[in-house]
Amino acid sequence: MRIVLLGPPGAGKGTQARRLADSTGMKHLSTGDMLRAEVAAGTELGLLAKSFMDKGDYVPDSNIIAMIQQLIADPAGVLLDGFPRTVVQAKALDDSLEAAGLPIDKVINMSVSNDELVRRLSSRAICTECQTPYNLVSDAPSTEGICDKCGGDVIVRNDDRPQAIMNRMKVFNELTVPVLSYYKSRGDVAEIIATGSPDSVFEALTQAIGSVGHSN
Ligand SMILES: [Zn+2]
Repeated sequence: MRIVLLGPPGAGKGTQARRLADSTGMKHLSTGDMLRAEVAAGTELGLLAKSFMDKGDYVPDSNIIAMIQQLIADPAGVLLDGFPRTVVQAKALDDSLEAAGLPIDKVINMSVSNDELVRRLSSRAICTECQTPYNLVSDAPSTEGICDKCGGDVIVRNDDRPQAIMNRMKVFNELTVPVLSYYKSRGDVAEIIATGSPDSVFEALTQAIGSVGHSN
């Protein structure tokens, strides 16, 4: 099974995708996580990526496609989170899957209002060690700046700072909204309202996916 998860920054794609991967055994491919790992490892790609991500800009299509190309045709099934983010990437994905004879089973769009997104993003923090997400308003670590789970540093990522958030929204509207139109023109998009508790969003997500079954 191959699923594309679309949605604006702050819609909760990462949280939901991790949970869905755990419950279905699908491989979770998060380009954001992959890039952050490259940044942490100080690779050439990581250094390049950081210069874009810190400003809230997208890493160039060619770098993203090269990074993920070998992984998307995994016969075990993949859950794509953060890819494709541009129409160029969506077309590259189609080419790779077509060559492998593997169709996309479902495109799911997680939608949230703009006000809600800004509210969520501006309160978001994350543990630099174990990647546990925190919300500085509703779910702050019990000791400021220290992860409850592992004692690591809890920080606000550069791309969650106000200036970068504004830019991420702008870039999303310019480059990723057309991806949604691209898939909608083929009629295979399931819409989920991603406002509400993580549990209720997860339920809506599994219902949307349930209709495509659990086989490869
Ligand atoms: Zn931690």
